[in-house]
Amino acid sequence: MPNLMEVHGLEKSYTRGTVQIPALQGISLSIAPGDFIAILGASGSGKSSLLNVLGCLDRPTKGTYLFKGTDVESLSNNQLAHIRNKYVGFIFQGFNLLPRATALENVELPLLYNAGAISGKRRQEISLAGLKNVGLEGREYHLPTQLSGGEQQRVAIARALINEPEIILADEPTGNLDSKTSLEIMEIFQRLNREKGITIVLVTHEADIAAFCQRRVYFRDGQIMKDERITL
Ligand code: ADP
Ligand code: MG
Repeated sequence: MPNLMEVHGLEKSYTRGTVQIPALQGISLSIAPGDFIAILGASGSGKSSLLNVLGCLDRPTKGTYLFKGTDVESLSNNQLAHIRNKYVGFIFQGFNLLPRATALENVELPLLYNAGAISGKRRQEISLAGLKNVGLEGREYHLPTQLSGGEQQRVAIARALINEPEIILADEPTGNLDSKTSLEIMEIFQRLNREKGITIVLVTHEADIAAFCQRRVYFRDGQIMKDERITL
């Protein structure tokens, strides 16, 4: 099967004042459909920078990135936005929910971009089912402040899944959660990968979180130190 995402000699540097900060220094990585990958490494090693490039939130400084065989360098910002909306679900450490919107409204949000194509009633049905799928039945009308951290992350997962993405990119999704809740969240990712075949790339620095993943890529100073595959 062809690779879903493929980067070659990827470099990313940021300009801070007059200083260039090299965040990625020649990353080459191929991600196949169905992969469940942990990206590990110390803080500042470039993990989030890679995820942002993979998710078409940011462009590389050098090197190539092929998304489903298409060189993203040739794509316009609108085309990149289309890739993000259609193929990618993002999950962040801080949940990133709208504070004044209910769980249901937060999950519905990405569907509003397709407002013409889908009725309000259908939108709500899909979102209710999405919340149920992550174990949040009965919490639909709660605000984020009325939910625990684990529940808020479930809402964020339901929101990320609402457009049926092929890929989930999760940046330290359990970083704000206690260990028991973290394992529950990892079980959800595992189920999505095994049952729906969703490709998952997950940044973490915790070994017990990475233990859920069949492939572990270790970063140091913007480079890959090790890329190991485990038979679970
Ligand atoms: P990680 O996610 O592994 O902690 P990052 O990819 O966030 O690493 O950061 C890699 C390096 O790039 C760090 O030195 C960080 O300070 C720097 N960096 C990240 N984002 C920016 C930015 N927007 N502007 C300037 N420097 C940045
Ligand atoms: Mg980071």
